[in-house]
Amino acid sequence: MRELKTFFIKTYGCQMNELDSELMVGALENRGLARVKEEEEADLLLFNTCSIRDLAERKVMGKIGRLTRSPKQRALIGVTGCMAMAKKERIFRKLPHVDFVLGTNNISDLNAVLDEVLETGKQTLRTDSSFEENLNYFDAVRDDPLKAFVSIIRGCDKYCTYCVVPYTRGKEVSRPAHDIEAECRQLAAKGYREITLLGQNVNSYGKDTPESKELFHDLLYRLDKIDGIDRIRFMTSHPCDITVNLMEAVRDLPSLCEFIHFPIQAGSSRILRKMNRRYSLEEYLEKVELFRQIVPNVSLGTDIIVGFPTETEEEFQMTYDIFKQIRYSVAFLFSYSARKGTPAYRWKDDVPEEVKSERLHRLMELHQQISAEGLEALIGQEMEVLIEQETKSGHLKSRTRCWKKVLFKGDLSLIGTLQKVKITGCNHQTLVGELVSNPALAIAIS
Ligand code: SF4
Repeated sequence: MRELKTFFIKTYGCQMNELDSELMVGALENRGLARVKEEEEADLLLFNTCSIRDLAERKVMGKIGRLTRSPKQRALIGVTGCMAMAKKERIFRKLPHVDFVLGTNNISDLNAVLDEVLETGKQTLRTDSSFEENLNYFDAVRDDPLKAFVSIIRGCDKYCTYCVVPYTRGKEVSRPAHDIEAECRQLAAKGYREITLLGQNVNSYGKDTPESKELFHDLLYRLDKIDGIDRIRFMTSHPCDITVNLMEAVRDLPSLCEFIHFPIQAGSSRILRKMNRRYSLEEYLEKVELFRQIVPNVSLGTDIIVGFPTETEEEFQMTYDIFKQIRYSVAFLFSYSARKGTPAYRWKDDVPEEVKSERLHRLMELHQQISAEGLEALIGQEMEVLIEQETKSGHLKSRTRCWKKVLFKGDLSLIGTLQKVKITGCNHQTLVGELVSNPALAIAIS
């Protein structure tokens, strides 16, 4: 049987994929394999893929297609992630040199699948449609020493008409709260200061396990008590499931950051209905207003798709106007691309590409302008930052509670600590400042 000593892993897509890669790195290192940075040095190549956009799929198909070394010399090749779920055995037809395809619900089977491929020499497919909560999250190997992703729920039950996730990641499965708490306590003991709770829709947490009587806000109260975890973030949220209890948790829990991803997707109720988003524009705006009453300094992020089938210029203009009204501080903006297997795939993709690009461009310009104004408004304020690392330019890189990047000069011993910084200027997406909480450790800016 062929011996594997090294592996290379490439991750595409979202934070869920990043965490799944960290889990696979843990499983492979436990098996005795060493991770390498260069593909050429690896006995095993893993591609943890994303299916959310057509471009993401084409990129990875092209990349794997170019790995054309002879089968005798080449490394084993495995495709994991959402594309594995969406395409399954079709991957072998298009890329006959791929050795195994492992779905998002089968991460814990990685070593068993590797054994099977090595023993039989045959292409192997493992893509279960539902998730068994048997992953050992404690084995994740993380690159970041301060901030960690923690999975709390997998899958999605919302079935937005454009989205592949319910088909690639299956139904919602919440992870037991005691297990999440134990992992966070372990992370705190290892020196992690910030956790980001992950799920396709974190606000649904606990709804699939009514016997546990613990919903998302209850989980937040539980985790806030952990000593050493200074900051808790979460993503992604669905506006329908954002409750008053959650808003009050953001107001009341010291560790919970006041930055919330609140994805609107479109500004017209007709398009929202066609997307099956389950809220109207009016309901969305009411929730935003209530949130801002309860947490006046809350900062909101969004996702928006422009050019959804049948979107008119007036409907796009509504999206544009809502963006201007809400003034999102972070936005992920996309033009619509049809995804096979979704209801919207059957509809005519009738907004011409050049119209989509032009709408996207207009929205991006608005976003840049609002972000720049938002950053300028912070000049002169003192803000708490978590210091993450030194940059190549010799600054310390840090983040505010609302996810703004701040650079300033200070002693390296400050990395990993919370400090107060006075904002003195801004540059594109970055704030610059000076240390005020620990002046002895400030370094003069030359
Ligand atoms: S909420 Fe909608 S967009 Fe988000 S993962 Fe679920 S189906 Fe996809």
